[in-house]
Amino acid sequence: MPGEGGTGRRWTTALRGVLLASTTDPRAIQTGFALLVAVDVALRWVGGVRVGLSLPAVSVLVVLVLLAVTFLSRGRLPLRAVEAVLVLDIAAVGLARLSPDGGSGLLVVLPALWLGRLLGRRGAAVAGVATVLLVTVPGLLYTGAEGIFLSRSVSIPVVAVIASLAIAGGMEQVGRAMETVEHQRRVSDATLDTVDVGLVLLDRRGGYVGLNRRHRDFMALAYPGGHSGRAGQVGEVLDSDGTTPLAAEQMPTYRAAQGEEFDDCRIWVGRDPLTRRALSVSARSVRDERGTFAGAALAYKDVTDFMRAMEVKDEFVASVSHELRTPLTSIVGYVQMLLEDGELDPVAVRQLQVVDRNAQRLLRLITDLLDTAQIDAGPVALTRAPCDLAQLVRACVDAARPAYRAAGIRLEVHAPAALPTLLDEQRIEQVVDNLLTNAMKYSSRGTEVCVELVVQDGRAVLSVRDQGIGISAADRDRLFTRFFRSRDAEDRSIQGVGLGLSITRGIVEAHGGRIEVDSQLGVGSTFRVRLPVAT
Ligand code: ADP
Repeated sequence: MPGEGGTGRRWTTALRGVLLASTTDPRAIQTGFALLVAVDVALRWVGGVRVGLSLPAVSVLVVLVLLAVTFLSRGRLPLRAVEAVLVLDIAAVGLARLSPDGGSGLLVVLPALWLGRLLGRRGAAVAGVATVLLVTVPGLLYTGAEGIFLSRSVSIPVVAVIASLAIAGGMEQVGRAMETVEHQRRVSDATLDTVDVGLVLLDRRGGYVGLNRRHRDFMALAYPGGHSGRAGQVGEVLDSDGTTPLAAEQMPTYRAAQGEEFDDCRIWVGRDPLTRRALSVSARSVRDERGTFAGAALAYKDVTDFMRAMEVKDEFVASVSHELRTPLTSIVGYVQMLLEDGELDPVAVRQLQVVDRNAQRLLRLITDLLDTAQIDAGPVALTRAPCDLAQLVRACVDAARPAYRAAGIRLEVHAPAALPTLLDEQRIEQVVDNLLTNAMKYSSRGTEVCVELVVQDGRAVLSVRDQGIGISAADRDRLFTRFFRSRDAEDRSIQGVGLGLSITRGIVEAHGGRIEVDSQLGVGSTFRVRLPVAT
């Protein structure tokens, strides 16, 4: 039951506050003292001392009345009044001692401690004076200064003052340490506020424990209706495409609160296209000394200008490529027609063949640039139709044979008689051609390329294996990145611009497939494409 849990928690907090002297609530202080007095009375009862209508009984009454005062005032007593309550507690101890079965004078230590805790050195002085006047002097007057009584009566104020001074000194040190911590906090807050990166610190449960000024600006854009202070709240936060809203479990804060670490996770925040910002988010886990997850730190870098520049560049590349392709297609067409004309002299034919080769190369590059722009704009648009993948692969291999023959590389193909699928035939041809061209380009004379098509776990698996230059482990991670070329490829001056594999992956993934590579530097590579065979 929430009510009971809440009360239980309040009492535990109050008890901890009394024991650690960390509370300043007079109710908790007085309850602690009343309990101590009760334990003292109970112990004396067990020891056979009957407290009837006597001064010790009056002292208990005084303590209880003071307890009632603290509760009736709802703990909102001014400091002077709390001081008076503690002095009266000392007086109650003094009263309790005025009987043949006198109560324990050591109980003054508790009010003395609190006087030191609340009023510092002045509190220790008040505790000392009050103990002498209210406990020692009346006690000596009652018992006389003979025997053990003198030593007992004098040791009580001494112990009270020492305890009170000790806690006053401790509090002074704590106060100085707190000042230093507070100063450091202000310095680090000011420093973090000057950084042009949004910073957030989460606790182990995903609660926000800190954020800098820059991030408050981002939060205002992302959560115009306010934020709950917990990781994973959905708002005006969109995926890197700028249109798909992020679900709770996709939010960077949620992922970081699950212990995930990442870099350059791109998001857009804000609804208005004019004011919204693109952010690149990184997250790192914070661990305690035992290595247990203790929270996470996130950094949000504003990359709006970069993203807008990329958009402009993509649009520019797309439109320029488009404008270039039309005249180039006509050049290629007319050169072909001239080459087919048998009346040209052999020198002109050779020169036209050079023109043809280079125009074809230019056309391929422009087509690749256009494909890349299209992939950037969204998933590749497909025109799926029933298609025999085995026949398609064999046709691509046959088309590549003359080039392979000229390069001195053997070309093997193993494919079933037929493999019906539902694919975009032209796009898949582009995939197979790209892989065959690469396998040839990055292999040397006398080696072999083997193309294999099988069905595995309900998927068509096409592999192209070569014995070429291979790809290092570091390069394999970046292979499908646009414009990436391996150092080896550059060093050997093998022609290419690094677009083929990123386009190939775009096409394969648009079909719901996957492309992967196994390779060993200097031994060869195997590119594997897995495609669904749904018909
Ligand atoms: P391009 O071949 O035009 O450079 P790709 O995107 O097709 O562009 O390939 C990217 C890079 O991957 C190449 O530059 C090359 O370094 C490497 N690569 C691709 N295929 C192979 C292969 N079969 N063997 C070795 N390296 C390859």
